[in-house]
Amino acid sequence: MAKIYTDKDASLEPLRGKTIAVIGYGIQGRAQALNLRDSGLKVIVGLRKGGNSWNVAASEGFEVYEVGEAVSRADVVMVLIPDMEQPKVWQSQIAPHLREGAVVDFAHGFNIHYGLIKPPKNVDVVMVAPKAPGRAVREEFLAGRGVPALVAVHQNYSGSALKYALAIAKGIGATRAGVIETTFAEETETDLIGEQTVLVGGLMELIKRGFEVLVEMGYQPEVAYFEVLNEAKLIMDLIWQRGIYGMLNGVSDTAKYGGLTVGPKIIDEEVKSKMKAAALRVKSGEFAKEWVEEYARGSPNLKRLMESVKEHPIEKVGAEMRKLLFG
Ligand code: NDP
Ligand code: MG
Repeated sequence: MAKIYTDKDASLEPLRGKTIAVIGYGIQGRAQALNLRDSGLKVIVGLRKGGNSWNVAASEGFEVYEVGEAVSRADVVMVLIPDMEQPKVWQSQIAPHLREGAVVDFAHGFNIHYGLIKPPKNVDVVMVAPKAPGRAVREEFLAGRGVPALVAVHQNYSGSALKYALAIAKGIGATRAGVIETTFAEETETDLIGEQTVLVGGLMELIKRGFEVLVEMGYQPEVAYFEVLNEAKLIMDLIWQRGIYGMLNGVSDTAKYGGLTVGPKIIDEEVKSKMKAAALRVKSGEFAKEWVEEYARGSPNLKRLMESVKEHPIEKVGAEMRKLLFG
């Protein structure tokens, strides 16, 4: 059984009187910085001069410094810039300014797990990884709730690293929802495997393929869009709220019978074995190596693939249908 921490298991005390430098003021950085400040903690922001978010952070009342300066002032350094930017910023502006005994926090284990960032021995290295987009991290906090998160300790120099991680989790509101203890390896690998096979990769392809089948058979694209994309959210909401059995109890008997008998023929053992193959590429580090190289070349394949998505007919009809639905 996983170890799960809630508000009563975590205290903000370890962070009282400390200076927390949030490096990056983007999707996670902004949400986490605002939540920590609202939790009564001292937060400064580290950014690059001339970047877009400098003025945003300053206008929202933060003291903003260049990354190196922010790190040198901080007891806790939260590395919340994009994963692929982190290694060079770490090398040039974070590592040289880290105080002995500082706590370094990540929101994703990628760079530590794959050895792209190698912290010195005299700091704590922890992770607080919200399992939600940054927007939800802020909105849930403001609503008096929180989003679940994973915590992990990679390096425990102080002997209190987990307490710091839980304090951060509490400060961003995550212990209100529940925080599960994990390792950098487990968080990183499950995150990549999940997004590739199910969340981003799997869902997107399932929807596209279903749409193609309907349209190729001569059905109207608008009808196909509602069937395979719009309704996917409604089904997902049911699964999210009630589980798979609960979802099945929320659809018609015809849908239950058709889904239960045909579903396993579509997503079959062959699909599962391909999922395993993708998972093994993540576990071996092969995927990380490929992506780091792609990013270093300026992400040409990513850019090309993104363009090609726009060309898919489901995107054209989808844009029209969403205008209808959402104005
Ligand atoms: P963003 O893309 O939103 O980060 C953008 C911020 O980073 C901006 O403030 C930008 O400043 C700054 N930045 C980018 N490059 C540099 C640089 N070279 N030097 C200084 N500042 C820089 O990142 P995310 O919030 O998406 O991701 C941050 C971390 O959170 C990652 O580890 C990610 O895996 C993790 N995470 C993200 C989630 C999400 O919802 N997106 C969910 C869970 C975890 P500027 O304006 O100057 O460009
Ligand atoms: Mg992910």
